[in-house]
Amino acid sequence: MPDPLLIQIVRPNAGNPTDIFVRNGVIEASVPAVSDLPEGSTVIAGDNAIALPGFVDAHTHVDKTFWGLPWQRHSAGNSLTDKIENQRRQLRELNHPTFDLASNQIRQSIRMGTTHIRTHVDVETENKLAGIEAILQVRDAFADSITLEIVAFPQRGMLTRPGTVELMDAAVAAGADLVGGIDPSSMERDPAGHLDAIFDIAERRGVGVDVHLHEPDTLGAFSIELIAERTKALGLQGRVNISHAFCLGTLDDAYLGALTEQLLEARISIMTHAPGYAEIPPIRRLHDAGVLICSGSDGIRNSWGPYGNADMLERAMTLGYRSNFRRDEDLELTVEIVTRAGADVMRQQGYGLDSGCKADLLLVQGETLAEAVVSKRPRSLVVKGGHIVARDDACLV
Ligand SMILES: [Zn+2]
Repeated sequence: MPDPLLIQIVRPNAGNPTDIFVRNGVIEASVPAVSDLPEGSTVIAGDNAIALPGFVDAHTHVDKTFWGLPWQRHSAGNSLTDKIENQRRQLRELNHPTFDLASNQIRQSIRMGTTHIRTHVDVETENKLAGIEAILQVRDAFADSITLEIVAFPQRGMLTRPGTVELMDAAVAAGADLVGGIDPSSMERDPAGHLDAIFDIAERRGVGVDVHLHEPDTLGAFSIELIAERTKALGLQGRVNISHAFCLGTLDDAYLGALTEQLLEARISIMTHAPGYAEIPPIRRLHDAGVLICSGSDGIRNSWGPYGNADMLERAMTLGYRSNFRRDEDLELTVEIVTRAGADVMRQQGYGLDSGCKADLLLVQGETLAEAVVSKRPRSLVVKGGHIVARDDACLV
């Protein structure tokens, strides 16, 4: 168990100044005087910083990042196939252990205040479960420092590559937390077959589903309908996420309304990282209708693109920028998306800054939440389960 921790004078969620006392990894309601602190306690001056519950990066790919390595030249074409094949070639030429690649990104995430990550990990017929096995080791190695959820992800296709369905099932049996999917129509050309296969694994193994859906317009909408049907039929409400869902950004108003109803009935959440290359879901409208929206880094400095730095506060700003958010209340929503909403998607219990919550939190300077989003100052403290995992912009694990 970590030593008790007293953080003096911080503003939870940019509210009124208070002290936070953590014992046995949990935030306690009553704060002892310094003279009454248990032996071995650590006292930290909060300097009136904003305290937030730890950031949740609910969609990334730690198995293929170049973070921490020398700059890798980007030359992939624009098509999905170009990017997938370029990734395969670059990672093979790089020949760097997946464990080390992932560790580099995770340390950067911790430094930036992230306490929870959902990562998609490639499962395919060439490397089989090598990626999953490496990231399971990473999950163990960082168990005290970050919560890592693993999605078995058929990046190169599933039905189009015989043997992949069996590998996906084996990945979940080996310890992956969710089963992933990708573009059931445009990539797999068999939407019902693709979705039936992954929902079958989810039902048999008792896990959730997280599907990459880049399909545009009504094609993507059709896939969402098929996902919602299967979610309800199998009683998986609240356990299915659709990542990207660019189609929600281009549908006409009536169809978007009807599809929103289906998302709500099936309690399907939506992940958007607000990339520059596609229309993005209408965050405010979906949120106000009751759809749970989370966000993530997606690829960070990898063969798919040069961008990303694992900073979910910067991601909040990107969500706001791409959504043309200017009002403080809209920027506050972006903070909710990179904190509590992500934790809800990952079904985390005891998340938050109330007494009794797990001490997963960060400190950042800022006048208000909106100002913090646009200023993105360094994190002065990051705590995970009561352990200090980063301090003064440096990862300690
Ligand atoms: Zn992704």
